[in-house]
Order: sequence, then structure tokens, then C-alpha cells
Amino acid sequence: MKIEEMIEKRRKISENKKLIERFPFLLPRNRWTGEISEDYDYTYTELDEMPNGWREAFGEQMCQELKEELDKFNFTDKYRIIQIKEKYGTLRWYDGGYPVGSKIQDIINKYEDLSMCYCYRCGKPTKYRTEGWIEFFCEDCKNELIEKKYYHEDSFVKLSKEDLPQRIRYKDGCEIELSTDPEVLKIVKENWEE
Ligand SMILES: [Zn+2]
Repeated sequence: MKIEEMIEKRRKISENKKLIERFPFLLPRNRWTGEISEDYDYTYTELDEMPNGWREAFGEQMCQELKEELDKFNFTDKYRIIQIKEKYGTLRWYDGGYPVGSKIQDIINKYEDLSMCYCYRCGKPTKYRTEGWIEFFCEDCKNELIEKKYYHEDSFVKLSKEDLPQRIRYKDGCEIELSTDPEVLKIVKENWEE
């Protein structure tokens, strides 16, 4: 291993230790047994499953909100993440359950909706979406993807304020639903007003 790689690895490990201290549910565990792998070395956490742009835009903020809510129910150490991924251009956050009466699902819904407003590659506000395979991109990433010929210019639809009803959560089964979270709608509107 090169010296730079070793330094980078050490930096990552120390960063991840701090992250897991703050948010214990980011500690990777076996999905079925809940056990921590014997050779776990802090080189990764559950949050690494979240695309970089979203992680930068709201990743830790989302964890913080979840933690504060979990703390109220004394559930922070019991909370388990099942999967974090992207689907239909937006975030999906699956967990192993939470206390009845908590706002955990509301917090997850809010950030799943919000993910549409942030480019998953870099975290800047989204201005375009692709058709067919739905993804949301900022201006810069759109240009870069066209330049690199990953996408054709025609693949992108410019989002505008009139598209607001399209800023929706693509629920599983492709049903669509307009987000009603006032905080989400506020951010969507702010992103739209140029
Ligand atoms: Zn971008």
C-alpha cells in the first residue's frame, strides 16, 4: 500500500469512528443476525451506501434528526438500517423498525422527497431529470454527462416551476404522489426560483 493510501485509510477510519460514535446505527451489521463482523475495521459505514451528493447535502443532518427522535424513545442503540439506496432517482432508506408513536417514518419520507432536490452526484440543486431511467441532475453534472457521452442532450428534461407536480415521490410500483411535507415543498420552491 502506498503511503498516501495508508494516510487516507487512517483518515477514513478515524472519521468513521467518530461518525459511528454519534450515530451508532451506522455501524455495519449482519442483516439477519445483527452481529458485527469480526474483521470490521471501520473502513466503511452504512452511510457509504448513500450516493455522495446526497450524503454531502443532507446525509449527516438526516442521521442527526433520526438520532434525536430515537433518543426520545431510548431506541438509538437498537435502531438498525436494512438498506440505503437510490430508486427512481430518489433516496430509499429501509430500516428494521422503530418505536410506535415516533416520527421516524416522517423523517425518512421527508429526506426521500428532498433527495429529488439535490444532485446525487455532487449535492447541488437539481435542474434536470432524465426520461425513462429517472435520475435528477444539477446543471454541471448534466453538462459533464453529455460531454462524456454518457447521455444524449435529448435525454434531459429541464425542470421548471411548472414541473412542481413532478417533484414527487415515485413510490414502489411507480405510483406517484406529491410530497405534502411543507419543509420539502419550501425547499423545492426555493430551488426553482432562479
Ligand atoms: Zn451535480
